[in-house]
Amino acid sequence: MSKIAQYLNEHISGEVSTKPDVRAAFSTDASFLTITPEMVVYPRVTNDIRKVARFSWQLAEKGHSLSITARGGGSDLTGGAIGKGIILNTTAHLTNIFELDAKQKLVRLQPGVTFGTLNEALRLQGLHIPSFPASAAYSTVGGAIANNSGGLLSGVSGTTLDWVHQLEVVLANGDVLQTERISKRELNRRKGLQTFEGEIYRQIDGMLTDNEQLIHDKIAIDIIDGAGYAGLAKVKHKDGSFDLTPLLVGSQGTLGIISEVIMKADFASRHHAVGVAGFESREAARDAADELAHLQPTYLEYIDGQLFAEALKRGKTYSFYRDGFSEGTILVFGFADFSERARTRGLKKAEKILQARGAFVTSSSDRYEAEALAVAREVTALHIVPEAADESAPPLLDGAYVPLSRFEDFTAAVDELAKKHHVKLPIYGSVLSNIYTVRPIMQLKKVGDRQKVLKLLDEYGAIVEGYGGHLIGQGGEGRAKASFAHKHIDDDILALYDQVRQAFDPFGTLNAGVKQRTDLKVLVSQLRDTYDMSAFAQYSPHN
Ligand SMILES: Cc1cc2nc3c(=O)[nH]c(=O)nc-3n(C[C@H](O)[C@H](O)[C@H](O)COP(=O)(O)OP(=O)(O)OC[C@H]3O[C@@H](n4cnc5c(N)ncnc54)[C@H](O)[C@@H]3O)c2cc1C
Repeated sequence: MSKIAQYLNEHISGEVSTKPDVRAAFSTDASFLTITPEMVVYPRVTNDIRKVARFSWQLAEKGHSLSITARGGGSDLTGGAIGKGIILNTTAHLTNIFELDAKQKLVRLQPGVTFGTLNEALRLQGLHIPSFPASAAYSTVGGAIANNSGGLLSGVSGTTLDWVHQLEVVLANGDVLQTERISKRELNRRKGLQTFEGEIYRQIDGMLTDNEQLIHDKIAIDIIDGAGYAGLAKVKHKDGSFDLTPLLVGSQGTLGIISEVIMKADFASRHHAVGVAGFESREAARDAADELAHLQPTYLEYIDGQLFAEALKRGKTYSFYRDGFSEGTILVFGFADFSERARTRGLKKAEKILQARGAFVTSSSDRYEAEALAVAREVTALHIVPEAADESAPPLLDGAYVPLSRFEDFTAAVDELAKKHHVKLPIYGSVLSNIYTVRPIMQLKKVGDRQKVLKLLDEYGAIVEGYGGHLIGQGGEGRAKASFAHKHIDDDILALYDQVRQAFDPFGTLNAGVKQRTDLKVLVSQLRDTYDMSAFAQYSPHN
């Protein structure tokens, strides 16, 4: 064990490991990159995180760099949860749910609790947090906040940012900051503090004042863009009140380490009425989807028929096949209203619309049948653990925002991209939140396919941004996508984001390399030569 690891091990109540096997286990997340850390720290209490941060800060003051990467479930798709220095793993000890105020629908917990476990606990009180990602079974609340994750219900219920009440964050120097919405008067008091917290409030407020017009013109708060620190636009309110929460949510561990949170919850409906509709062409599916969206379903998913064709090749069939349809573009929709009448009414109206359009429809309000139908959505997860040993479906092109009005142009351009690179590029996503994923089916063992990875990402980014979308609609840009996403951000905004980072992390000790452009040669050297998500295969992909 190195001297540093030994020192930390002696000074924290958690543990530190430099064992090669342990470091190897933390050298990958769910992205296509790999970096082996120097050590893995398992903090037991907030004070451990503070000590590690303070130590790293003091080293940096002396000119040595030891970056800290906070990590939850490690399911990040962008290399955000891997790093060279310390991996700070929250899933061993920081897993307590402290209190639930069911009346106020608030829950206080530690960051290493998985989103799935939290929702299980909340369901006992008839509650849930609806922004859970599809990875909820193994991803944490800390990770969801740091990535501003969203999921099936986000089209109606928003992303994790909408469900965060308050954060406790360990700053780069080991101090602790509590975020909350504060009045103008309280802001002035905090700006007067002669501490690192005071310095952060002074700097961020100064940036907001100096760049008001720029932020107004170039960071649209209503558009989904997770690249950089777009949350800056939501920090200051018209009445002068101020809240750093939106800046920290989505910051991928680069501005502070979340050590405790208070989340908001909402009533959860236990019953879903579900429908599956199949179309010969995707244009027909899109047109029908636009009409269905007016019925205000709880979710409405678009799934490219190629995914079902691939599933069928593997012998996987779905309950709606029995009614006679197995390929073509699929829409899966659900109504989760509390009233049974409303659910049934929604489904009936949807059927009418779909039948008039000549679609194949099967639907049910019965709980078990509906659940069986909803499984069709999981075809999208089937491909991340391919059956053929040499095949992989790396998450290169996940979570882009594509505006509804440009969807057809976008799909046509993706077809061209697929032809150009001889790669299958099936698309799926949410019609309600306009977040789409393209899942390339590749053989990363082949040099030729590995060479395509960054080209695909670059050209796909240009397509998405060219049609008024954002490459980073869900999750962050991490390491893998920063160079490609930042290309489409104006220099003055990037300079502002640099200032934000500098204010929170002057020595660059927090997740260095994440949310920062990287030389492409460096990225190439970090590429994994095999990729599949077998590491997560023990879990159900959907919560
Ligand atoms: C099969 C699959 C499906 C997925 N589906 C979705 C989806 O539907 N929607 C979606 O948004 N994402 C999805 N993801 C991506 C990912 O699972 C989510 O972003 C998830 O919320 C990350 O949580 P985690 O605990 O795994 O975080 P990690 O991967 O451990 O970390 C994610 C980021 O958060 C930072 N971080 C973690 N903990 C802290 C902390 N305590 N303080 C500060 N920073 C921290 C890390 O440094 C890293 O940058 C999916 C991934 C997979 C593999």
